[in-house]
Formats: sequence, structure tokens, C-alpha cells
Amino acid sequence: MKPTVAVIGSGMAGVEAASSLIRHAGDDVNIVMVSDTGILALRPFFIYPPYSKLFRNPARTHLDLRKAAGRRGIELQQWQADEIDPISRVIRGNGHSLPYDYAIVATGAGMRPAEVPGLAENAYTIWGFEDSLKLAHAVEQMIVRAKRGERQRIVFNIAKYNKCGGPMYEMVFMTETHLRKQHVRDLFDIAFTTAEPAYIAAFGAKLHEATEREFADRGITARHSVDLKEVQPNLAIFADGSEEPFDWMIGFPPYIASTTFAGLPVDDRGFIQADMSTWAVDGTERLFAIGDGANFPVKQAFLALGMAGTVARNIADDVAGKSPDDRFTPLSMCIMEQFDSGLYAQVPLVWDGDGSSPVAVDSVRASDYTVRDNRLWQVGKMGMYMTMVAQMGTFHTFHEGAIWSAMEKMIKGMEMVTPSPV
Ligand SMILES: Cc1cc2nc3c(=O)[nH]c(=O)nc-3n(C[C@H](O)[C@H](O)[C@H](O)COP(=O)(O)OP(=O)(O)OC[C@H]3O[C@@H](n4cnc5c(N)ncnc54)[C@H](O)[C@@H]3O)c2cc1C
Repeated sequence: MKPTVAVIGSGMAGVEAASSLIRHAGDDVNIVMVSDTGILALRPFFIYPPYSKLFRNPARTHLDLRKAAGRRGIELQQWQADEIDPISRVIRGNGHSLPYDYAIVATGAGMRPAEVPGLAENAYTIWGFEDSLKLAHAVEQMIVRAKRGERQRIVFNIAKYNKCGGPMYEMVFMTETHLRKQHVRDLFDIAFTTAEPAYIAAFGAKLHEATEREFADRGITARHSVDLKEVQPNLAIFADGSEEPFDWMIGFPPYIASTTFAGLPVDDRGFIQADMSTWAVDGTERLFAIGDGANFPVKQAFLALGMAGTVARNIADDVAGKSPDDRFTPLSMCIMEQFDSGLYAQVPLVWDGDGSSPVAVDSVRASDYTVRDNRLWQVGKMGMYMTMVAQMGTFHTFHEGAIWSAMEKMIKGMEMVTPSPV
């Protein structure tokens, strides 16, 4: 009897984990993926619809996994899991029940805009594809009004307890470039506000400095360390008493877990508590949590892919009777799209694992901390998109294997030929 590995969730973490299991455990395991959609949504590319009609077609960012799963020997079951019994090793939900030998929970995160009164009612938010389409309509309205000569003010905000600020920085820079390309930039005041203690605080001083410089160059007024308390029609109010009037507000709300599994150890936002080197769920056996749904404080696809590989390789070793010795070392990589350039960062991270201090740049691996700014990186982001579609849409690993090695070499080459902005 082959052991069954259940993967719950068909996001970037779940798909990479299943692909890595195929790579390392091959025919030695049955892989069953439980997903409430059967679709891989490439969230990092949800930033594009407001500025690119090409990306308003959902087929470009939503990959139907059903055929690919069948071809790669993965049983894809479409239902919503709501209970995991780690003692009897069963996953349940919607009348379904799936016994497992190993399980990987990759159910991702969700948004809770209601934590800030008025945010959902008075601002556009980013997270899902529908949110991006609504924002696309708003951006079109901004341009129409500007072409009538109306002066407008846009306020961007990252709320407290948001755990992935990067996309909001992309949105503000892309908006600024888009308005310039539409020849209406001079009719807009743009303000950026964030609850973070510095710009992209988790990614360290270099990225803060590069971002601060970018705000100044683009004439964007920016403030960090400001906690959004309430949003009224056309007015954002902050805990320190300051206010930002707006015609348009675009907010990134607080994060919560998408699913809270009763009986599993979770933090105060529902994220599953797991060992940050193996992603084994605390107090359980053969149960792992990865991606946005796990309790690592920074939610990022690139980190999710790393967690997925570690867990899959360790399960493959365990099944083969070898000692699982793969350990996750958080190394973030991001390309901040600006529409006229790209800000690239590779950031080695360190975290105490219990939340008593925030994530920080790992000083031991300081030589890995790299920031670059150049149009080439914008092209690189599109290259990553195409590779993700080709690899992940067919259950082949993105973050390991020959194609990833080639991409790593290319990234190193690009690091050498592009300048550091700080
Ligand atoms: C606008 C935006 C831009 C971003 N840009 C970047 C970027 O440039 N770089 C980067 O590294 N990261 C980026 N991120 C973050 C990145 O998208 C996430 O970190 C990543 O998608 C997390 O993957 P995941 O698989 O953990 O979760 P998700 O992608 O959310 O997937 C969760 C999966 O679980 C399924 N599911 C949920 N609950 C259940 C259940 N109970 N039962 C069954 N199935 C369930 C869902 O349908 C989904 O398939 C961005 C995020 C946003 C919102």
C-alpha cells in the first residue's frame, strides 16, 4: 500500500508541494489534492488588471488544474475542508472524508477589512481578482475625470495586521506611472500611508531607503507608522489624529487565515502554528502547514514555494525510510513592478518563531541582501510569470529543477549588470 499524501489547497504553495512530491517521491506515494476551486490563482499578477487590459482576462491568471492533475497522477477532489483530525489522520468537510498518511495544509489567507470601520464601504481594496477588476474601473474613471480637468487626490493605505505590503507599493508606483503615461499626472495628488514602522519594514533598511527615494522622485507624499482607524466617505482617519482627505482610496486590509481548522494550534489570526524549519504543525505528526496559511509573519509566494519544497522533500525521505533533514531557511525574493522600471530585492530573513520580535534581515547572511532598480527587472517579472504558467500549470516545480537553476543564473547575471539604488 502506498502512503496517501493529502494536499489541501491549490494555490501556489499547494501546487508547488504536489509538484515537488512528484519530483522526489514519484510513484511511491498517492497524491490527493483537495481544493474548493480546482484552480491555481496566480495572485502576484492580480496587480495588473487596473493598468493592462490583457490581464483583465481571468484565463491569464487562473489556471484550471483538472486536466494537468490527471496527467501527472494527482487525484484532484473539489470540496472545502473544514476539519482535520491529526490523531486519526482524517480530513473532513462538506460530507467528504479523506484519510491520510501525510497531510500538507496550504489553504492560504483571507482579508478582514471590517477591522477598520468604513474601509470596505469607502475604499477600493486589493486581494482577489474581482477587487482588481473593480479598481480597473475606478482607474478608468480617474482618467475620465482628469481629462475633464478635475483635480483628484488618491490615498493608498496598508492597514495594521496586513502581512504582505509589497503589492501596495507596486500599485502606488504603477498608478503614478500610468497617470503620467496618460498625460494627467499633474492633476493628481498621491499620498501613501502604511502602518509598517518603515517602508516594506520586514525587508530591511536598503529597501526602505530605495522606496523612500522612489516616493520622492515621483512626487508622492508618504508616511509610515500610521495606523488607519476609520474611513469615512472621502476621509481617512488615523490613530494619531491625523487625517487624509481623498477622492479615491485604495487599501490593503488586515490579514486572517482563510480557514480556521478547529483542533489545530493557531495564532490570534487563525494562522497554523508550525515549526519554522520543517513546517510540521506543532504537537502533531505527519501534518504540515505551508504558505500564507502558516504562521510565518510575512506572506509571500516566494516563501510559500520554499516551504512547499522543504516539506515535500522531507516527506519523500520519510517514505523512503531516510532521515528527513531538509530545513527551511527564509530567503525572500521580490520584483516590485513600477510600470516604467522594476525594483528587485533578495532578502535573507530571520525570525524568532514565537512572534516576540518581528521578522528582520538576517545579519549572518547580510551578503545575500541585494536591492537593484532597473527596467530589466520589469522584464524579469514577466519572464517569471510565463515560467510559472508553464511549470505550475502542469504540476512541474517552479522553485527547483533545471529551469529554476537557469533562472537563478540569469538573476545573478542581472544583479551584476544592474545598479543598486542605495
Ligand atoms: C495583489 C497581490 C500581489 C502579490 N504579489 C506577490 C509577489 O509579487 N511576489 C510574491 O512572492 N508574493 C506576492 N503576493 C503574495 C502571494 O500571492 C501569496 O503569498 C501566495 O499566493 C500564497 O499562496 P498560498 O498557496 O499559500 O495561498 P493561496 O494562493 O491563497 O491559495 C490557497 C488555496 O487554498 C484553497 N482553499 C482555501 N481554503 C480551503 C479549504 N478550506 N478547503 C479547500 N481548499 C481551500 C484556495 O482555493 C486556494 O486554492 C501577492 C498577493 C497579492 C494579494
